[in-house]
Amino acid sequence: MASSGFPRRLNGKVAIITASTQGIGFATARRLGLEGASVVVSSRKQNNVDEAVEKLKAEGITVLGIPCHVGNGEHRRNLIKSTIDRFGRLDILVSNAAVSPSIDPILNMSEAAMDKLWDINIKSGILLIQEAASHLADGGSVILISSIAGFNPQRTLAMYGVTKTALFGLTKALAAELAPNVRVNCVAPGFVHTHLSDFIFQHEDTKEEVKSQTLLDRFGSADDMAAAVAFLVSNDAAYITGEVLPVSGGMPSRL
Ligand code: NAP
Repeated sequence: MASSGFPRRLNGKVAIITASTQGIGFATARRLGLEGASVVVSSRKQNNVDEAVEKLKAEGITVLGIPCHVGNGEHRRNLIKSTIDRFGRLDILVSNAAVSPSIDPILNMSEAAMDKLWDINIKSGILLIQEAASHLADGGSVILISSIAGFNPQRTLAMYGVTKTALFGLTKALAAELAPNVRVNCVAPGFVHTHLSDFIFQHEDTKEEVKSQTLLDRFGSADDMAAAVAFLVSNDAAYITGEVLPVSGGMPSRL
């Protein structure tokens, strides 16, 4: 593999990243791969998985692609089993999948939209971690991808934001349950232009308002988020567990 310029902190590690055929998930799979990990990419659609696998292979990354809708129990089991069958171990699990099916205020939100938010943004991640837990190697790591919106759920993203707040609590609870052998941390991205966040970027006013909340006067990139994940799963973060790392260009998070 040609040198990527990144440290090889993850040589010999095996990482699963959910919802990783584009956006933050793909950038994370790529970064972990360039740092030496074998990566498992997944999302709902086989053609997206195939495309992501080809791109990563072209960079010399060892990669396995498995279609997985995180809300489907059979898919989750197959994701873990296929990883163990192929690589014989699991060190890193990045739970990245999320939906934002409605911009309705919470008081007007349909039960179906609330169920979907709970199901994909919270429950599916928990069920996948349950499935993976007994396979995670000592020194392994789980990362939950939350959002800066989890600190202060905004009007158009209120219930989505609340599901992301829940991931902060989940991080603490799972860090205690998986200690001392496996660390659990959370990344809270700021705004990155992806398919999921595209509606914000369609409206110049909203876009400028969001950008003005950053101290660094720019949106984030998927690579900014991937770099934070790579740090947290590496030995450089060996004494960090149960924490939330905002990666938001200084958007308001906490004191
Ligand atoms: P994205 O670019 O829109 O990518 C979504 C990915 O998820 C695709 O690979 C898609 O592929 C896959 N996917 C969708 N539904 C899925 C499901 N049910 N099961 C498995 N895979 C599924 O998303 P993103 O913006 O990078 O978001 C990634 C994470 O970052 C999410 O947790 C999001 O909440 C968080 N986040 C994003 C931002 C932002 O500004 N973008 C900010 C804060 C937090 P298929 O269509 O093939 O399934």
